[in-house]
Amino acid sequence: MGAPSCAAILRAHPGAPSGTYLIDDQYAPLSDKILAAIKAITPDPVRFVVNTHWHGDHTGGNENMGKAGALLVAHENVRRRMSSEQFIALFGNKIPASPEDALPVVTFTDAITFHWNGDEIRVYHVPSAHTDTDSIVHFVKADVVHAGDVFFNGSYPFIDTSSGGRIDGVIEAAERVLAGTGPATRFIPGHGKVGSRADLQAYRDMLKTVRDRVAKLKAEGKSRDEAIAAKPTADLDPKWAGAFVKGDVFTGIAFDSLK
Ligand SMILES: [Zn+2]
Repeated sequence: MGAPSCAAILRAHPGAPSGTYLIDDQYAPLSDKILAAIKAITPDPVRFVVNTHWHGDHTGGNENMGKAGALLVAHENVRRRMSSEQFIALFGNKIPASPEDALPVVTFTDAITFHWNGDEIRVYHVPSAHTDTDSIVHFVKADVVHAGDVFFNGSYPFIDTSSGGRIDGVIEAAERVLAGTGPATRFIPGHGKVGSRADLQAYRDMLKTVRDRVAKLKAEGKSRDEAIAAKPTADLDPKWAGAFVKGDVFTGIAFDSLK
């Protein structure tokens, strides 16, 4: 949720079982634009859509893509959360249950691998990070990772504590992604520009710094308001504060998720 997210496309590969493989599909009104962009790359229809998590800016086009013939795939918690009304505390809004046609058709608990377009595409769940529905998508041969909203490149992330997200989970997920990739890997974030290993490392380091500072305030007995008033992110804000998730908002998120 927040700023528009990436919809990533992998084009077909000659000689292998192939077709367009789409990660996340934005809001429903953008489906025609996304399909037109795909058509400019390949005549192949969308065969799979993988949702990195349940938020509407990543799953809003599911119904349209499913009706266009794509198989919808996601962690089982994506289907669970999309199946009933949700509440996101930070935005104060209720999200109604999605129609049956928008729900993932294939779900998994830990991981699923696609042998597709000449690549090995490993999709694995990372527990309680941006939400409790997150998956990382690793194109092993292409050496590309789509990290969904676990990775906001260059800004503080929104962490949806109402959906089971935790700052420690985001740090653990970033560590796992870094451990499973190399120096040349490209990292597609849920929000922001495509990043390098250094970008993801800097993001992980920032998260750890904020986590440690907020945890210290909490251990000293500070309330949420007192922790925010202490401005523990002041020196980081010029580099990391985003349009919506500013230092005080992120301090609050970190505080809420450190229980
Ligand atoms: Zn999100």
